[in-house]
Amino acid sequence: MALHQVSNGAGQTYDDVYSTPISARNLAAHRVPEHSSDPRAVAAMVKDELALDGNSSQNLATFCTTWAEPEVHHLMDVCMDKNMVDKDEYPQTAEIESRCVHMLADLWNSPEGGTTMGCSTTGSSEAGMLGGLALKWRWREARRAAGKPADRPNLVCGPVQVCWEKFARYFDVELRQVPLEPGATGLRPHQLREYVDENTIGVIAILGVTFTCDYEPVAEIAAELDAIQADTGLDVPIHVDAASGGFVAPFLQPDLVWDFRVDRVVSINSSGHKYGMAPLGVGWIVWRTADHLPEDLVFRVDYLGGDMPTFALNFSRPGGEIVAQYYTLLRLGHEGYRKVYEACAASARALADEVEAMGPFTLLYDGRGALPAVSWTLADGGSAGFTLYDLTEQLRTRGWQVPAYPLPPKRQETVVQRVLVRHGIGYDKIMLLAKDLRAAVDRLAGGSTGAPETPGFHH
Ligand SMILES: *Cc1c(COP(=O)(O)O)cnc(C)c1O
Repeated sequence: MALHQVSNGAGQTYDDVYSTPISARNLAAHRVPEHSSDPRAVAAMVKDELALDGNSSQNLATFCTTWAEPEVHHLMDVCMDKNMVDKDEYPQTAEIESRCVHMLADLWNSPEGGTTMGCSTTGSSEAGMLGGLALKWRWREARRAAGKPADRPNLVCGPVQVCWEKFARYFDVELRQVPLEPGATGLRPHQLREYVDENTIGVIAILGVTFTCDYEPVAEIAAELDAIQADTGLDVPIHVDAASGGFVAPFLQPDLVWDFRVDRVVSINSSGHKYGMAPLGVGWIVWRTADHLPEDLVFRVDYLGGDMPTFALNFSRPGGEIVAQYYTLLRLGHEGYRKVYEACAASARALADEVEAMGPFTLLYDGRGALPAVSWTLADGGSAGFTLYDLTEQLRTRGWQVPAYPLPPKRQETVVQRVLVRHGIGYDKIMLLAKDLRAAVDRLAGGSTGAPETPGFHH
């Protein structure tokens, strides 16, 4: 030990973290260091690096949870060691997962909410893949039973999130993506007839389209599939990708019929870590009734002790997010979710009104009727004198992350911007964003880059 270091007798030093050896060098990037270091110093250095990430409370691009109550942090800490796959070692965590499944099945009006099948996943991507696999299996069984070929499955959808493109590629299913019609914010029922056929394993309807934040009309999509069945005999099921809407619609739009009340809906996925308000790392899938999940997709794992059915792409997986989801459902109840999202929706509507009043924008989704969010495009692409990408960059100088991106096929020429209002982002913050947005528009429209005018400078 160097002479200037003072020991507390337990081998620890009282050095300031910024005067420890590790603080005097670049942190290792390519090799595991030979020696150990002071934990406080290492944690401080790593935390300092993390400060270079964006500030998540100003990240209005993400659907995911960026704020949680202290009790959630505590429960996550308590659950550090809970392995979701080890249902024999952690039977109460498994029980809590099961309670969440049945609560969600009931929330989404499953006719057998108390007994139906479902599970937690790492997010909606994994949940969607499980839903897609069940569709593929059931379609294949029916085709084989009818003595027909089952080698060319397809899945029909509108402007889906990338997880469905992954599902199609990973699991060898043709993705039939219906292009967006002019003025539409998602799949429109009358478009379906051209795309579904005897090889269609299902139609994906999205509750909360990633690009526009609007809901696709699930009941009308089902009615069109009913009409198609009446004409052709094809019986095509619907899986609802309710990644964000699954935790919003039941509270903000309880009369909207989009869930298991629609007979054709066989499964629903949602992200607990989006509007479910759980921390990152949890999604959910629920089947209408237990028999919609083919038995041979379920693995019975017994080597951890006990006979536990599992259906998942992952094996070991943390349990804290699931416990935190259970906490949030108990803590908020219907009343709490409704209040939180009514507040978010009011902020979104206020932002939509501000954006509309600024002049250069056309709202694509005005925060009314679907997610607490706003999306817009430039009213007249060429004449504003700036692009939405320029605006994104300007907002970034104030720390805001408001992405600009093109719409999916057939409307790719339309660039949009989107703001998601989530738990933990209050009215005041949204109004501060509106103010910065207006200032950025003024600067861009005036041809200035934001540098203050210097005396003697003339255009
Ligand atoms: C976010 C999202 C997904 C993917 O969900 P993860 O939880 O991020 O895996 C899928 N579909 C839609 C509509 C989404 O918004």
